[in-house]
Amino acid sequence: MPSLQATAALLEQSLRTRRDLLGRRSTGVTRESLARLSRSPAPLSQISNLKSELPREAQLDALREAVSACRQCENLAETRTQTVFGSGNPQADLMLVGEAPGADEDRLGEPFVGRAGELLTKIIHAMGLTRDDIYIANVLKCRPDTAPGAPGNRPPTPLEMQHCLPYLRAQIALIQPRILVALGKTAMLALTGADQSMGAMRGRWFTFENIPLLATYHPSYLLRNGSNAEKRKVWEDMLLVMEKLGLPVSEKQRGFFRSAS
Ligand code: SF4
Repeated sequence: MPSLQATAALLEQSLRTRRDLLGRRSTGVTRESLARLSRSPAPLSQISNLKSELPREAQLDALREAVSACRQCENLAETRTQTVFGSGNPQADLMLVGEAPGADEDRLGEPFVGRAGELLTKIIHAMGLTRDDIYIANVLKCRPDTAPGAPGNRPPTPLEMQHCLPYLRAQIALIQPRILVALGKTAMLALTGADQSMGAMRGRWFTFENIPLLATYHPSYLLRNGSNAEKRKVWEDMLLVMEKLGLPVSEKQRGFFRSAS
C-alpha cells in the first residue's frame, strides 16, 4: 500500500495515462485500456483539498465532498439524485467493492440498500460482522442512467469506470483494508483488469496494491439464481475471507448451504 504522499506524487503519471488513453481513443475506451488504468497509480491528490496530515476520517470526508461535486460523466451527473460515496468503518479490515448504485442507492445515498443490499447484510451478519465493522463502496459513485421507463439497472461503461476509478483507489488508499472483496465481474475488472467469468475467478486470491483480493458473485446474482448450490459458493468465498481475517468459524457456519438444491 503506497503512502498518501507517494500516491499523491503519482497523480500526474496517472492523469497522463488517462490523457494518453483518451487521446488515442477514437471509437471508445477499450477493456484493455481500462485494464491498463486499473494497474496505474492511484491519483489521490486529484482531490485538491485532501491533506495527508489530516485523520483518515477527515480525508474521507474531503474525498466524499469532491465526489459529490464531480461531473466527469455529464450524463450521470445530470440524472443522479445524489452521489453514493460509500459507508462503514473507515478503519475497517474488510472492504467490499460493488458495481454501481441502483435506484434505491441513488435515492438514499448509501451503497447496497435495496434487495441486493439486504442480502449482503445477511451475508455479513452470517460472518459474525455488522455493516459498521466493514466498509462498502462501489466502482461508480453515480447511478448509471437508463432510458426513461427502462426497467432495472445498466452496467457502467468502460469510460464511466475509467472516470470514477481514481475515487475508489483513493478510498482504498485511505482505508487500507487488510482484505478486499470484489462483488461481481465489474468490480474485478475495475480493480484488476481481469475479464473472465466469475465462475473462473471466484474462490481465488488476487491482489490489489498488495492487498489480498477475493472475487465472488454480486448479491444480485443470488437474487436471480438463489439455489443453495450458488449460495454455498458465495458462502465458501466468505469462509475464505473469515479465515484470512482470523475470524472464528464455527461448525455451524462451516455447514451453511451445504445441502445443494
Ligand atoms: S460516476 Fe464518478 S466520475 Fe462519473 S460523475 Fe459520478 S462521481 Fe464523477
